[in-house]
Amino acid sequence: MPEPLRLPLARTLRDASALADAGLVPREAVPGLDEVAARYAIAVTPAVAALVDPGDPLDPVARQYVPTAEELVRAPEDRDDPIGDRRHAPVPGLVHRHRDRVLLLLHHSCPVYCRFCFRREVVGPGGPALVGEALDAALAYVAAHEEIWEVVLTGGDPFMVSPARAREVTARLAAIPHVKVLRWHTRVPVAAPERVSEEFAAALKCDRAVFVAVHANHPRELTPEARAACRRLVAAGHSLVSQSVLLRGVNDDVATLEALMRALVETGIKPYYLHHPDLAPGTAHFRLSIEEGRALADALRARVSGLGQPTYVLDVPDGYGKVPLGRDVVLDGAVRDLAGETRPYPPPPTG
Ligand SMILES: *Cc1c(COP(=O)(O)O)cnc(C)c1O
Ligand code: SF4
Repeated sequence: MPEPLRLPLARTLRDASALADAGLVPREAVPGLDEVAARYAIAVTPAVAALVDPGDPLDPVARQYVPTAEELVRAPEDRDDPIGDRRHAPVPGLVHRHRDRVLLLLHHSCPVYCRFCFRREVVGPGGPALVGEALDAALAYVAAHEEIWEVVLTGGDPFMVSPARAREVTARLAAIPHVKVLRWHTRVPVAAPERVSEEFAAALKCDRAVFVAVHANHPRELTPEARAACRRLVAAGHSLVSQSVLLRGVNDDVATLEALMRALVETGIKPYYLHHPDLAPGTAHFRLSIEEGRALADALRARVSGLGQPTYVLDVPDGYGKVPLGRDVVLDGAVRDLAGETRPYPPPPTG
């Protein structure tokens, strides 16, 4: 792996000219990328920019965050609402697809804008914030539905709120007796680790189980600063899981996936999901086939401890939920072993 070039960046890059000034895109690409920026938000934080090797045209970190003209290409299968969130939104800012859990879209913006984002049509600066009466209505819905056992805070990125707001939302959710689990989905520990202060980590504390699902796709993203941010969350008593997206040109080889999963486990994060890429508009260049994904998940199974095994899942388009994509290992009177060989396995005794 090449030593990443450290750029002395003071602030987040938010448009094509700023990316060109920082040497992350060629100057002549700016007009085309302005067109991309008019549709999809751009943000590259100093922490992320420092990880990019500008000398590598195939850099897997840059590929996740630096826009390209390919995003203007719409494939016939692309969908504006790829996983059907809108079909299951009883009140604004809340998605109730599965009986026992809801998504609370707490905050519209993100520290960075991932070029493959599955919610790219709705996330960005200046979106609707879940505050005031809108937050009251969403929390009233949760309180009125006793079957809701878990609340997943997402967005956008819910770690973009202030510690005071995180503390307030936590307290209000923990005051609902049937809510037993709070889960925060975030890219901040990787993209802006300095935001995960001890004060922020403490703001999530309550007398319920608190999980933080960290989004990371490449082992290089687990920098010493990112690992320290995760340790502050663990020190505050939270459990950490990961979510990664399988992306062409970023992590679609088993050595990279293995290094990613090892880096996550070493940081105290249990790999949770490896997502097959969604049908978000202008993201066809990130997709690979389910067969390729299954082969990678199989190869990972053969290489890494059980602690480093995420479940490889597809969010079935249009809101039909997530399904595991793992290869079928159960055959008639036999199973397939790690090397793909058929091994007999007897049925239980009858009678
Ligand atoms: C992904 C998702 C969840 C959480 O699913 P888990 O499998 O429990 O991680 C809940 N609701 C919706 C609508 C989702 O898309
Ligand atoms: S952090 Fe999540 S919601 Fe935000 S742009 Fe990336 S994938 Fe989308």
